[in-house]
Amino acid sequence: LMNLTKKLIEIRSMLLSIDQSDSLKLPSIVVIGSQSSGKSSVLEAIVGHEFLPKGNNMVTRRPIELTLIHTPLTADAPTPTEYGEFPSLGLGKITNFSSIQKILTDLNLAVPSTEAVSSEPIDLRIYSPHIPDLTLIDLPGYVQISSMDQPEELREKISSLCDKYIREPNIILAVCAADVDLANSPALRASRKVDPLGLRTIGVVTKMDLVTPDEGVGILTNNRYPLHLGYVGVVAKSGGKQTSSLSERAVSKQTEEDYFNVHKAFFGPSSSLSGIMVGTDTLRRRLMEVLESSMASSLHSITNAVQLELEEATYQFKVQYNDRRISSESYVAETVDALKARFREYATQFRKPAVRQRLKEMLDERVMDILEQLYWMDKRVEELSVSGADTKVKTARDVDAYWRHKLDAASSLLTKSGVGRDATVLVADGLRTLIDSIASGEPFNHHPRAAERLVQFSHIILRDRIGMTSDQVENCIKPYKYEVDVDKGEWEIGRQRAVELFEKEAAMCEGKLSEIRKKIGGRRRLNGLIGYVKELEEKERERKARRLKGEDVEEDVEGCKYPQAQVLDARHAVLYNDRLAILKLRLAALKSKRCKTGPENDVFCPEVFLNVVADKLAHTSTMFINIELLDHFFYQFPREIDSRLIYDLDRKEIVEFARENPSIRRHLDLQERKDKLEEVMKQLNSLSTLRADTAPTPRRQ
Ligand code: GDP
Repeated sequence: LMNLTKKLIEIRSMLLSIDQSDSLKLPSIVVIGSQSSGKSSVLEAIVGHEFLPKGNNMVTRRPIELTLIHTPLTADAPTPTEYGEFPSLGLGKITNFSSIQKILTDLNLAVPSTEAVSSEPIDLRIYSPHIPDLTLIDLPGYVQISSMDQPEELREKISSLCDKYIREPNIILAVCAADVDLANSPALRASRKVDPLGLRTIGVVTKMDLVTPDEGVGILTNNRYPLHLGYVGVVAKSGGKQTSSLSERAVSKQTEEDYFNVHKAFFGPSSSLSGIMVGTDTLRRRLMEVLESSMASSLHSITNAVQLELEEATYQFKVQYNDRRISSESYVAETVDALKARFREYATQFRKPAVRQRLKEMLDERVMDILEQLYWMDKRVEELSVSGADTKVKTARDVDAYWRHKLDAASSLLTKSGVGRDATVLVADGLRTLIDSIASGEPFNHHPRAAERLVQFSHIILRDRIGMTSDQVENCIKPYKYEVDVDKGEWEIGRQRAVELFEKEAAMCEGKLSEIRKKIGGRRRLNGLIGYVKELEEKERERKARRLKGEDVEEDVEGCKYPQAQVLDARHAVLYNDRLAILKLRLAALKSKRCKTGPENDVFCPEVFLNVVADKLAHTSTMFINIELLDHFFYQFPREIDSRLIYDLDRKEIVEFARENPSIRRHLDLQERKDKLEEVMKQLNSLSTLRADTAPTPRRQ
């Protein structure tokens, strides 16, 4: 039957890890008593080691779930190893009991003084051949007299914490000191409230040595406060000196034995009063018997409760997850696979034509800027237009040389504008944006740390390649800085693209203009505004000219006819109008016979020439960015996912990772609950067959 308690203690721990609800609780022994009643001394006497926090100030601030596990001496391990374990701290076996004491003290002192007590239990297991299988819960001692440092509020807090633990099915170990009237024992008072008949309360009377044997016997025979399970008298002096060695403990045990031996006449088996219980050994045995019978009688109800919970969990698992099992590892693997697949899918955005297209757009913009800078502001720009060429005043040669020079300057501006670096950075930025969007989407939104790492290492790969790639690209476009050959075919394609680009640009200007018109209230009003703006500009010019001549010019004090915002819009409209005019002029030129003829007319059609150059730059850049940056990145990134995102995760981190995702956490929780309940059920079933086998043996009372 010893096995039964041991098994049930195991089951009890498992049930506690499933949930804290009362319906799934197997009994434990709860130790209550007022401060200094000798609670710690009794517990330490049972364990045979000093390991509980000591101190004048209230030191037990959290419940200690103490599980004692009897480890029989075997042929393999003939010398006793005694050790403790804090399962939730993961510190492993602790063989030094003063270290256990230190940890318990720290854990208790970690409860902030504003809270004073915490209901969160500390789980401590002790393994030894000298202890029985027992579960005990040590609680903060009752405060009897409230004072400055132990106010009324604390007193109530401790009371209600104890009340939570002394509920059924737990067994109450009420510790009272022999030198204090039992009527004043807070432990007995609390027990009577929940167990009025004293059916599940054991009284422990400590400090028997402090009263006369006569009085001692009087207390133990308890006529005034009868307890069904009786009182046990002990002498369990501890504390004071820091004694934790087994030999010193033996000395204190000796004290107890000596005391009861000396007073054999009162306490011995031959005393006139039979049934008196004294001594720590008796207490230990008594506790084992009581716990065992209590556990045995809980067996039936707990089996039913577990069965019900299991059925519910099984049903939910079927309904919610269609019995699909997952593991943290499988989730991590799936996440990584999905990430790589997603990455591959996005990678198509970085195929050569797409990259070329993007670079070309960047260069087209640059061409527009150059045209604006070098040509559109030029007073001689008319000469380039078809009609301007017809009505030329200057000699053809002069015209040609001027525009030849311009074209060289424009081409040079374009090829020397840092294309290598800008093109590389443009593509790298595209990759970064892609990774950022992956990192901020499902499921990485649940995994902020992994997302951060993802972003980090992708940025590192890119950063390492950008410099080298830029240099490579810059090197490869170098020839274009000196000379660009354009053949007839390229010219025509370039011309068509330039026309397209200009038409798009013109449409954009039209769009902006019509937006402004709408905003301002029609073409008429806009024209009025534009007239006004031009007038203002004219006046401003005049004033400037006069100032330059040294005249004293007054500021215009005339109030503005229109709202400031509209004046600003009108100024923009003027700019769009001007640009539209030039675009139209150039479009006509681009569509003219002269431009269509071919590259020999390049000076008159700089747009076509620059477009062809831009295209060549985009083409060459793409080729080298592809080799130096993209190929490398697409090769490296998936490998980094493997090595930096998962291979260095240990089991604990994998679980943490999976549980960051709330839907996975719920799935895992239910699955674990179901598994644990199944395991408990299996063990409970094996116990009932065990009990059935031993059924003929009558149970001890
Ligand atoms: P707790 O506050 O209830 O845990 O009480 P302790 O176990 O710390 O004991 C309080 C004081 O009573 C300590 O100084 C102990 O040494 C002393 N004490 C405990 N048990 C006995 C006993 O059986 N006899 C005597 N004389 N003193 C005891």
